[in-house]
Amino acid sequence: MQKDLFVYNTLSRTKEKFEPLAAPFVGLYVCGPTVYGDAHLGHARPAITFDLLFRWLKHLEYKVRYVRNITDVGHLENDADEGEDKIAKKARLDQLEPMEVVQYFSDRYHENMESLNVLKPSIEPRASGHIIEQQLMIEKIDQAGFAYTVDGSVYFDVEKYNRDHAYGKLSGRNIEDLQSNTRELEGQDEKRNPFDFALWKKARPEHIMRWPSKWSDGFPGWHLECSAMSTKYLGEQFDIHGGGMDLLFPHHESEIAQSTAANGTESVKYWMHNNMITINGQKMGKSLGNFITLEEFFTGSHKTLEKAYSPMTVRFFILQAHYRSTVDFSNEALQASEKGFQRLMNGVQALEKIKAGEVSTIDVKAFEDKCYAAMNDDLNSPILISHLFDMVRQINSMADGKEQINQTDLDQLKKLFHTFVFDVLGLRDEAKQDSGNEKTAELIELLLRLRIEAKANKDWSTCDKIRDSLKELGILVKDTKDGCEWEILS
Ligand code: ZN
Repeated sequence: MQKDLFVYNTLSRTKEKFEPLAAPFVGLYVCGPTVYGDAHLGHARPAITFDLLFRWLKHLEYKVRYVRNITDVGHLENDADEGEDKIAKKARLDQLEPMEVVQYFSDRYHENMESLNVLKPSIEPRASGHIIEQQLMIEKIDQAGFAYTVDGSVYFDVEKYNRDHAYGKLSGRNIEDLQSNTRELEGQDEKRNPFDFALWKKARPEHIMRWPSKWSDGFPGWHLECSAMSTKYLGEQFDIHGGGMDLLFPHHESEIAQSTAANGTESVKYWMHNNMITINGQKMGKSLGNFITLEEFFTGSHKTLEKAYSPMTVRFFILQAHYRSTVDFSNEALQASEKGFQRLMNGVQALEKIKAGEVSTIDVKAFEDKCYAAMNDDLNSPILISHLFDMVRQINSMADGKEQINQTDLDQLKKLFHTFVFDVLGLRDEAKQDSGNEKTAELIELLLRLRIEAKANKDWSTCDKIRDSLKELGILVKDTKDGCEWEILS
């Protein structure tokens, strides 16, 4: 196995050889969703990008501890620490307890991720479950002299931090630019500088999500939660921190400052960021009317969509671009992905039917090397996919008898195809899944035919047993005058 993985580190702006820190595991932290609405295409990209990384690291036989948080408190409507908490606002509008909103949208998010075949992280902590850790971190930052308190709110002193450390080094900004570019917003007079950020905010009387603290009844700042949770589960220093490029500033920049201030060292060795998705060349946004949820993609129920696109079409579409490139969604592009994905699945099926010959005209070793090289080159999934397509063409030639393969090479090729298509790219054959459903239906019908026979024989106990057992499995059987009907209870 070729383990020389190179990753692009946003911090150094170069591709670096991945050398894990000395720990029993590779620590990977990715900023998860703020759960106040349905997941959209923009959520799919980081989830799939870091799923690819997680799968690849595991394939390279690293033990990985993957932490992806759920933001359920502290993410305010704007990055300047003003406005309502996004979850509290949704709860107020829908007359719900905020944690009902969190549970509902977390469940929906998990369903979407399952559809996209995104593996579950090792740990999925919630910010509201780590208030004490966040408070302790604020104390450490305060003791180190990088925080100040005004009327029950605690702020990070960016200017002071910048005297000894380079605030802005991740995003390539400097404090002078920030000084001139930050607008003075109303209600910001508590801050010494507009670019300072909140570590703890005193809650206004109407604010429902609040916890007691030595400073005030309030809530933690959004940036702080990731610093506190990554430190708790991965240690003061860990290998990889990922997220979307939209989080570079101020979120990740502030995370660096907080960890450095609290622990005296920088916490992250490799920063990795996925690029954004545009829709027909435009940024996604609720106000632009092009905000398409994953559910809408899967059902085709958004006016922009010409049809429904299956989860694997969406996944394949995202993997066809390198994670650091922008991706532009259009119906045309997705339909091309749908066809490409089908071609790949047909290739997998065709490979199963190939019969080995005496000799090989196919260079399986070269194919293997190219696939590893692509993935080890900063997860270059589009190049990997192009190698797979080249091999599909050769598989078709083998099927036509124009090329030959011996048994050893055939076994190896099948193994490689399975590894790269299903385990690494995380694709799954949806046609097989559908036929799985068909098989289930056939089995139910078979049981019901046996039940009708039992009924004819007046074997009531077998009859009831079949009905009751199916009911336990969530399948409701109803007797009708012509026989029976069944439905799967949702
Ligand atoms: Zn974060």
